[in-house]
Amino acid sequence: MKRIAVFPGSFDPFTVGHESIIRRALPMFDEIIIMIGYNSNKRSYYPLDKRKDWIKQVFQDVPQIKVGKFEGLTVDYCQKVHARYILRGLRTAADFEYERAIGQINKKMNEDIETVFLLTLPEHTAISSTIVRDILRHRGDASQFLPACFNIDEFYDEPDEF
Ligand code: ADP
Repeated sequence: MKRIAVFPGSFDPFTVGHESIIRRALPMFDEIIIMIGYNSNKRSYYPLDKRKDWIKQVFQDVPQIKVGKFEGLTVDYCQKVHARYILRGLRTAADFEYERAIGQINKKMNEDIETVFLLTLPEHTAISSTIVRDILRHRGDASQFLPACFNIDEFYDEPDEF
């Protein structure tokens, strides 16, 4: 049976922190599906399709990685794509508390699915999409927090919010 993991998030935008967790998890799984979760009632900063294209660009040479989008519960998406693992990154104690509750509830909803956590690298602990978004909104240079292949100019284009 193929070991398939889903890495869910909003990735608004995708950062070096996300990239690092995924690359480090690659030896553990046959396939990792990066699932961009969205809520049609909530506005994001960057359009969904743009976020998807950017992530695809990062992993264009990695056939083990797929990118999908989904509105709904992560466990339902896992069932749909036959994934038995949910991959998450842990930065801080606050992340842990939040992730613990979600992981335990997900397990109650589908006991066949395990959540796997990887600790973030120390140099990525302070990086969050929220902070990176704030830098970009004010036209600051956030390139050190974004995957190296990204063209930073694209991140200053008119986002969804305006
Ligand atoms: P969510 O809105 O679900 O938190 P994010 O896009 O912010 O979505 O994050 C997706 C996953 O990536 C989460 O498991 C989060 O803990 C992890 N993550 C976010 N930033 C980092 C980082 N700097 N280092 C490691 N993991 C991270």
